[in-house]
Amino acid sequence: MRDDGVTAGGATARRLGDPWRELSDAGRGYLSVYFSEPLARWPVREITRPADNKSDPNIETGTYGLFSTCEPSMRNRIVNDGAATVFFLTTRRKHQGRVVSGYYHVGWYTEGTQGAVNRDYALAAATMRFIEPILASDLPEPLATICSAQFRTMKPIDVATTSELRKLCDNRPDRTADYLSEVARVETFARARSGYAYPSWGREFGFTWDDAAGYYQTDAELSKVPNSSKNRKWRCRECGYVIKSGALLKRCPLCKQMATLAPAEEDA
Ligand SMILES: [Zn+2]
Repeated sequence: MRDDGVTAGGATARRLGDPWRELSDAGRGYLSVYFSEPLARWPVREITRPADNKSDPNIETGTYGLFSTCEPSMRNRIVNDGAATVFFLTTRRKHQGRVVSGYYHVGWYTEGTQGAVNRDYALAAATMRFIEPILASDLPEPLATICSAQFRTMKPIDVATTSELRKLCDNRPDRTADYLSEVARVETFARARSGYAYPSWGREFGFTWDDAAGYYQTDAELSKVPNSSKNRKWRCRECGYVIKSGALLKRCPLCKQMATLAPAEEDA
């Protein structure tokens, strides 16, 4: 890992073994916008998003793109460009505007279930830090302009911006533990309501490192799979069922097989 003199984030930098490979840090980064839980005290991902339950940023494992198919092009660029610092931004409530909630310093990557052919890399943080959210418009310039600019899901940032934004986060108290409790609380709430923490995934409980092994790339025969479906319908080539989901799922919610879903034709 690069030693740039800034304070390490929340956890001690961790080392991951096979199949994770070390990512070298070229100093650049990304801004990544995510949907956050509307009623949560801390802006964790939108676990209860209807028919599209969110698993990323998966702070409980410190991963991104391991369990979901979100942002394949960003993950691909992070791996290929060594753009190792990902800052997370979200809009808490419509009238409040965008906030910065924290960052991952990505130290590790591996191929996801859909493989490099689909630009599917899973990322794992070496360190991460989540903070009391800062309104983008309250940041010092030029960070305020950069973080408030209109972009839909992600934006690459240069070395100077990455370094300034990281210092700013590192100077705030680490609230990662509060975010983690909030993920668990929302999952418990969702399970009480529907029997599942992630009903659109058919998942009763949350994510842990024990789940990771099932999401690594193992299939040598992978083909290209579109990442979106116009009608939000996906057919499983194992069980034949058609499921409805806003995003491509890595695992069929019915038969639980990996990398078996493809867009379902309108009248197939
Ligand atoms: Zn299936």
